[in-house]
Amino acid sequence: MKAKELEEKLTYKRKSAWVGDKEEIMAYSEGYKVFLGDNKTERECVKSAVELARAKGFKNIKEVLKEKKRLQPGDKVYKEHHGKCLTLFVIGKQCICKGMNVTASHIDSPRLDVKQVPLYEEGGVAALKTHYYGGIKKYQWTALPLAMHGILIDREGKKHTLSIGEAPEDPVFFISELLIHIAGDQMAKSASAAVSAEQLNVVVGHIPFEEEDAKERIKLNTLRILNEQFSVTEEDFLSAEIEFVPAGKPRDVGFDRGMITAYGHDDKVCAYPALTALLEKETPERTCVCVLADKEEVGSVGSTGLNGRFFENAVSEVVSCLKDNYNDVMTKSAMENSYVLSMDVNSCIDANYPEAFEKLNSAVAGYGTILTKYTGSRGKSGSSDANGEYLYKLRTLFNEAKVPYQTGEIGKTDLGGGGTVALYLAAYGANVVDLGVGVLSMHAPYELISKADLYATYKAADAFYGINE
Ligand code: MN
Ligand code: MN
Repeated sequence: MKAKELEEKLTYKRKSAWVGDKEEIMAYSEGYKVFLGDNKTERECVKSAVELARAKGFKNIKEVLKEKKRLQPGDKVYKEHHGKCLTLFVIGKQCICKGMNVTASHIDSPRLDVKQVPLYEEGGVAALKTHYYGGIKKYQWTALPLAMHGILIDREGKKHTLSIGEAPEDPVFFISELLIHIAGDQMAKSASAAVSAEQLNVVVGHIPFEEEDAKERIKLNTLRILNEQFSVTEEDFLSAEIEFVPAGKPRDVGFDRGMITAYGHDDKVCAYPALTALLEKETPERTCVCVLADKEEVGSVGSTGLNGRFFENAVSEVVSCLKDNYNDVMTKSAMENSYVLSMDVNSCIDANYPEAFEKLNSAVAGYGTILTKYTGSRGKSGSSDANGEYLYKLRTLFNEAKVPYQTGEIGKTDLGGGGTVALYLAAYGANVVDLGVGVLSMHAPYELISKADLYATYKAADAFYGINE
């Protein structure tokens, strides 16, 4: 045998995901760009996902429970929790206790949250104090247009939903950065200290209230405008939930338009494929589930994070609508016998920083969705570490379904690391592995992804929901 044949037969090489019909990749990416541009926060994602699901015949599990209806194969239900996380089910033909095919991704992204007593006036402007959410390089969030999203509840209890700074005619908000001319001291600091958390104050007003003897006239005028528009007072910030995110829509990158830059790819670039693939499923063999979780960026804690019980509760409600004589073992079996894709973004080699990556085991943009056996840091600490047998099952599935995929770890061992929701679902005894799109500039205000990897991730989710044994 010649070396070339032998090489072909015996060696493994990553293959480009830019294969097949490029038009399909491009068309799918357009839908994603619209969804991502319209849904920057967890609340917005849940609202839109519910609308999309209802249009496909999904029902709120509450309605089913109220009507005391039995669920049948092919039925579609969802359960949302606090408007921030969502679980969607398409009931399969098999008994649910034999397990489900579950994708779990998250819809929260790093951002700047407004503090509870945030408004002050200084230096000719009114500004809001923020507390950053998730892992960010703080110096990246200055000097760029920001949009305000969230809710304000007025004294009468009326909830005002905010989205200001996205429409071209809207005002935006801004965090000032020290001019380079006098930044000698700042530039000598480490990157992590160059901009402090308490400097992430967002300009929201500038024109003073007309009466000259009033105190803090810019702050007062800002409050006057807020009161006019939303009938709120300063006290109402105590119960507000407001997030500042980069303003603007996703944009194509490059002459060939092969990539997309946007805020919030992490993790909508996995949530969107997981959701859209599920919405196409009709009467699958195994019950298919798409979990869109909140709070991943702060450790999956709280009642809307996957370390909480919302997913288990949703499963138990569905099981109780499927079975007579409900008992706990049914839910536990359904969870334990499940296949899970923990769908979250991964890193891929950044050619500007080759020193941070180990070439053989780092993913490359445009080479398909990334299947990751383990995450964690310093000796796999905090990782759920997928079983080899399960990896084999998925490898075979993806090869058969012609899903472009590769493997990848987050950078060199011992440089840092990361983790996502896999371990919380693995805790139920399920087979879990990480899968997702490689992102460049992860957690920066604008992140970068390959359209081919996005589409490969959709194909992976689609094939995964089809697992029938
Ligand atoms: Mn993530
Ligand atoms: Mn993240």
